[in-house]
Amino acid sequence: MRAWSLARKCAGRSIGFVPTMGALHEGHASLLREAVSRDHVSVLSIFVNPAQFAPNEDLDKYPRTWDADLALAEAIGVDLVYAPNAATMYPAGFATYVQVERLADGLCSRTRPHFFRGVATVVVKLFNAVLPDHAYFGQKDAQQCAVIRRMARDLDLGVEIVEMPIVRETDGLAMSSRNRYLGPEDRQRALCLHQGLQRAEALLRAGERDAATVKKLVREALSAVEIDYVELVDAETMAPLERVDRPVLLAVAAQVGPARLIDNIKFAPVD
Ligand code: AMP
Repeated sequence: MRAWSLARKCAGRSIGFVPTMGALHEGHASLLREAVSRDHVSVLSIFVNPAQFAPNEDLDKYPRTWDADLALAEAIGVDLVYAPNAATMYPAGFATYVQVERLADGLCSRTRPHFFRGVATVVVKLFNAVLPDHAYFGQKDAQQCAVIRRMARDLDLGVEIVEMPIVRETDGLAMSSRNRYLGPEDRQRALCLHQGLQRAEALLRAGERDAATVKKLVREALSAVEIDYVELVDAETMAPLERVDRPVLLAVAAQVGPARLIDNIKFAPVD
């Protein structure tokens, strides 16, 4: 992988990189299209990273759709698909992990404490192999984006992190590889995540600045699902806020039948 990238870099080519766990959908496709259009060459990685799953999570049943993923990558014009296996990434004796402090404390870490350590570690390893100039991530995983951006700055990785908007189904559900776990009834119930966030956005636009009031409205909209969290945080540091007095992230996570789903909006007050 690195030899391929070094040859391109020495020839003055920029490398755009999209790391994924496969089971690609339009959300991933939007990142790939951006990489293909903005960079000279583009790399997609597909690696279902064991380090970011807890023993009780869905590592074994995480969807794997290799042929469809390759067809999509080819149709978009991706130059190379990098798909290392777990034994290559985590050889016997593996002992080094990257821990991003504070930003990785709240939100998804509360129920998935192992998660960002696994993500940060694998992303550094992938960056070291692919040597990208730009790496494209989705706002769908907003805390992940913030963690990786912080890590890239702190560890001088020399990679520009590009955050792309959330791609949704026509009815508003944020696209996710895990949506395929949903049966028809859960699929319908899952719409309340986006609907709750939309209502909150309307309230924020109307001038509401009290975080508790905004979160209460979202909690009410999520009454039919099992809420993991509803949080309003500083969009950059992920620190919880009581007042909306700077750009904020309003993020939700909920268990909907067999699937744990996340969604969010960003809001910047102009007053
Ligand atoms: P994953 O394969 O779920 O690890 O996701 C790989 C990348 O795709 C991450 O940067 C995600 O944030 C991004 N992504 C996943 N779903 C969406 C979506 N609905 N819209 C935009 N980006 C997404």
